[in-house]
Amino acid sequence: MDTSCNTLDSLTFDNRFTGELPADPEAANYRRQVIGACYSRVAPTRVARPRLIAHSREVAELLNLRIDSSNAAQVAEVFSGNRLLPGMDPFAMCYGGHQFGNWAGQLGDGRAINLGEVRNGRGERWTLQLKGAGPTPYSRMADGLAVLRSSLREFLCSEAMHHLGVPTTRALSLVLTGEQVIRDMFYDGHPKAEPGAIVCRVAPSFTRFGNFEIFASRGDQATLRRLVDFTIRNDFPHLGEPSVATYAAWFDEVCRLTAEMIVHWMRVGFVHGVMNTDNMSILGLTIDYGPYGWLEDYDPNWTPNTTDAGGRRYRYGQQPQVALWNLVQLANAILPLFDDVQPLKQAIEGFSRHYEQSWNSMMAAKLGFRSYHPTTDADLITELHEVLQLVETDMTLFYRRLAEVEVAEDSAPRDSEAAAETAIVNWFAEAYYHADSATGNSGDAERPLNEAYSQRLLAWITRYRQRVRQDGTPDAVRRERMNAVNPKYVLRNYLAQLAIDAAEAGDYAKIDELLEVLRKPYDEQPGKEAYAEKRPEWARHRAGCSMLSCSS
Ligand code: AMP
Ligand code: MG
Repeated sequence: MDTSCNTLDSLTFDNRFTGELPADPEAANYRRQVIGACYSRVAPTRVARPRLIAHSREVAELLNLRIDSSNAAQVAEVFSGNRLLPGMDPFAMCYGGHQFGNWAGQLGDGRAINLGEVRNGRGERWTLQLKGAGPTPYSRMADGLAVLRSSLREFLCSEAMHHLGVPTTRALSLVLTGEQVIRDMFYDGHPKAEPGAIVCRVAPSFTRFGNFEIFASRGDQATLRRLVDFTIRNDFPHLGEPSVATYAAWFDEVCRLTAEMIVHWMRVGFVHGVMNTDNMSILGLTIDYGPYGWLEDYDPNWTPNTTDAGGRRYRYGQQPQVALWNLVQLANAILPLFDDVQPLKQAIEGFSRHYEQSWNSMMAAKLGFRSYHPTTDADLITELHEVLQLVETDMTLFYRRLAEVEVAEDSAPRDSEAAAETAIVNWFAEAYYHADSATGNSGDAERPLNEAYSQRLLAWITRYRQRVRQDGTPDAVRRERMNAVNPKYVLRNYLAQLAIDAAEAGDYAKIDELLEVLRKPYDEQPGKEAYAEKRPEWARHRAGCSMLSCSS
């Protein structure tokens, strides 16, 4: 197979979704309910002055595509939707979804347009999808467009997640449209013109739970079955030809993939923000980067999404329960294809078991243990999570610092016990948002000396050291093990916002700088420490840094 670099015009398309599934017969582009079809053909809207401002070389490589300064203008033309390549067959998918716990009816790709499926030199298929390329039959009341700030966040986060080892859709390119888009960011009567942008997303499939739900909700079992069979044949071919037994194995696998994805989110401190069933990928990929955020201080109740501030349905600590709830909705949707509910029930139960096992192993790895030992580790982990909440503690910094704590017997401190204790508390000080509240150096009456905190942290560290000694792992080995799962660099909310501020002022270099650091999130990267620092105080309450709306 030829895996050498292709030009745009030599990309090979193999469009199975449009080739094998029922199409909406209506060709005109107006908002409507689309019945009995999986998609509607729709062309992207032309934009005025497309300009490529960032791209991912790794995703270009996936497509065997060469992108450099010599073809940037053509790349911008194609990935803004201005020029269709031979073999492209643009379409928007029909799907529904449960939003914030309620059935919302038909949603669909309101501002996403799939260009087609590329077959690369390794025989893989990658669907290209433009987000923000204009209205589709599914745009409902909205404009089908996207603004620079949200597109930049999606571009960077998709790639950051990939480099962290988290299953995700990818992002090939970020293109400015040269047009303005009106948005009322906080829905409070202050609309503003913002630069428009388009991201080209790339994934093996963009099918969501909601793609199945829509047909179930309409009692359209024939189309439901066609989509399930298609998904199994194309995205789960190892399961064999579709049959009732295959359906059960398929749903079981979706449960497992979803559990794995959430464990990764919990590991790196990612909060999706809008886990509606239309934002759940059937492949267990993180999809639809909207008002997502990264946990700074460890707070299971935190959500970045202002639209969810009241109920906090999609808060960090609730993501596994919501995933389960969403899987139950998917199970209900595909139930008509089964003559017995039992396999679905078993898979749902399997989710919780699988999640728990994976989460335990993940936590053991974060702490540098060889494997999870329930008798000691369950308590140790619970206590750690309580300690982390006693003072605002940056989760990412904490684990990197914990990896450096010496445990081996022969490295026992020569200092007095008191000095050694102070050294430990001070060692973690960099991870505290109010360092004084933990270390007790404060004269601030609001935040009294926190002797109790220090004692609890030290008691935990003592138990931790005992546990590590039981494992018999040398410090250097443990550090390496921990640093391979506890990132040093994540897309901190304020870092993304700084890149947005710069880009909105016409400086796009920060996007590449940030992406470069995020390519190696587990490496120390000397000289890049500024990107690993905890959120500065100015960002605590700034829009885009600590709170995000769905407006995008
Ligand atoms: P989201 O909350 O971003 O997952 O979007 C939910 C639904 O609204 C999906 O069907 C989107 O395609 C649609 N949507 C969101 N923003 C827009 C927009 N600006 N124009 C058209 N449809 C949109
Ligand atoms: Mg969505």
